[in-house]
Amino acid sequence: MSKFLKFKCDLDTFIEELKILLQTNTDQVAELLQLKEKTYASFVKPMQMMDENLEHFFTPLSHLNSVNNSKETQDVYTQSLPIITEYSTKLSQNLDIYLAYKEIQKNETQTLNYEQLRVLQLNIEHFELSGAHLDEKTKSRLEEINLRKSELSNNFSQNLLDATNAYEYIITDSKDIEGIPKSDLENAKYEEDGLIKYKFTLQMPSYISYMTYGKNAKIRESLYKAYVSRAPENGKIIEEILALKDEMSKLLGFKNYVEYSLASKMAEDETSVLQFLNNLLDNSQNQAHKELEELQKIAPHKLQSFDTGFYSEILKKAQYDIDEEEYRPYFEQKSVVNGMFTFLNRLFGISFKAVDEKLWHEKAFSYDVYVANELKARIYLDLEARESKRGGAWMHNYQTHCLNEKGQEQLASAFVVCNFPASTKSNPSLLRHDDVVTLFHEMGHTIHHILSSVNENEVSGVNGVEWDAVEFPSQFLESFAYEPEVLKLFASHHKTGEILPETMIEKLVKSKNFLSAMGMLRQLEFSIFDFKIHTGVYTEAQVQTILDEIREKSALIQTPSYNKFQNGFAHIFAGGYAAGYYSYKWAEVLSADAFYSVVDEGIFESNTAKRYFDIILKGGGSKSMKELFYELMQRDADTNQLLRLNGIK
Ligand SMILES: [Zn+2]
Repeated sequence: MSKFLKFKCDLDTFIEELKILLQTNTDQVAELLQLKEKTYASFVKPMQMMDENLEHFFTPLSHLNSVNNSKETQDVYTQSLPIITEYSTKLSQNLDIYLAYKEIQKNETQTLNYEQLRVLQLNIEHFELSGAHLDEKTKSRLEEINLRKSELSNNFSQNLLDATNAYEYIITDSKDIEGIPKSDLENAKYEEDGLIKYKFTLQMPSYISYMTYGKNAKIRESLYKAYVSRAPENGKIIEEILALKDEMSKLLGFKNYVEYSLASKMAEDETSVLQFLNNLLDNSQNQAHKELEELQKIAPHKLQSFDTGFYSEILKKAQYDIDEEEYRPYFEQKSVVNGMFTFLNRLFGISFKAVDEKLWHEKAFSYDVYVANELKARIYLDLEARESKRGGAWMHNYQTHCLNEKGQEQLASAFVVCNFPASTKSNPSLLRHDDVVTLFHEMGHTIHHILSSVNENEVSGVNGVEWDAVEFPSQFLESFAYEPEVLKLFASHHKTGEILPETMIEKLVKSKNFLSAMGMLRQLEFSIFDFKIHTGVYTEAQVQTILDEIREKSALIQTPSYNKFQNGFAHIFAGGYAAGYYSYKWAEVLSADAFYSVVDEGIFESNTAKRYFDIILKGGGSKSMKELFYELMQRDADTNQLLRLNGIK
């Protein structure tokens, strides 16, 4: 029998099956609560496995809704949300469960292992953060707020997806496509009424292509304007989300949403995060100004927001002689994936074997993962862009490593999703180096989840890892995509087989930190914005004012007033990053520090790499990242390594 679940999601019966499953769970919870003597083994373990099994049922639907989005998946997903939110809100507010956990914690502190104790500690904390200990009236208001919030988040991202798909820019004059890479043109090209036309859209590969290479500034402006003004109706959704979050935080006894958010994170408080961000902002500004001056020198007029991508590419070519198009033939998707597997094999001793199974799309593939010849996990790769797929790239965990109630080992699995250029019969999928970095990033999350050796699923893999530490393993791995030794493992020309020449590797490495201080400012703008708007209740106009104020320091080019970036900021309004976007930078400190340790020791001889596997990857969420990091490095993280990673002096 396979050690992994068969991927399936029957949309016709999904809601009905979901309701039955939740009813069964509810009955089982009631039975467990009847137990006279509740112990970790008799109470906590079955509760955990119930959750795990629900994930197994639900994950295929949310995955499908993201990668094969259709009217049907949307309908079922939208229908399922209130049902599942109501269920989990009830559970998280059930005082009896909370009291049982507290009792078990008291009785078994001496006998449970640290994984089990952390499960208890996080659950109790989670209960308190969701208001389990509060009166009925408050609890029912919290329930209403949760339902409404999840509805709003779903609307937010659906509006964004609809707006992205609704727009296209058709080019008929061949002058306007001069300079666009051939492979991108192939994807944009179509024939109508005997004419050759080119369609550019707001989907990432298409949009980026024109913004980077398109010579016609008017067209760039149109695309940019369409992109940054998507989903204006999200402005009101933001207002409501902020108000609900503030109300919720206050009901739970916090000053504001920021304080609530930090209660379960690695960072201590509002001041320490803002200090951290502002410190980086101050350290990056000088260099950012110099970078902009250089960029301005090569432009014939004062730079506008929709020019930076285009002139950056020209400057990059001038300074580093980097033409991304020259590199793409060396980054054929399949060879990159296989090379990444080889790299992971040499770094950690893990190996990958293709699995022959039918999945949700012909472009999706699965692999079994072995550690020292022992089957450990399964991954699913779905890497190419298509209209029905949500933009961006992500890892989605499916199964989690643990021991079940009977003590049997359950292996882990995860989905890796990207939006790389689609391959066709005549045209292979050729990646930009950035895409390679993205793949490494998502793979970093993936191995963090699947290589866990923790036996309690709630703190195994990425489960139980603090939000502001979650990006540590992904950013750690992506840094290797710039290392010559690693690149040589897979960067070979898809036609000639020639390995990426030494000089081209050198240029790529040098160009890594091209305009890095400007990039840093942008990320800090997002982080500070996210943090500030979550300190209170703000109207649509006030949100804009806050953003404008931050931009005075962070945006070196005047942002056009039609730019409503916030309406597309799905990370914080439709994802889990609210008052937590700073996590990227926070975790980058950990990753930069660990990465340089490995590099300085010699990548494939590094002892730190082995320890990283044993401590960070195997450890998952079983201890706080502060502790695991200390075990790894024998000291706290060194922030200077972050500036080193970004080449900022
Ligand atoms: Zn990530």
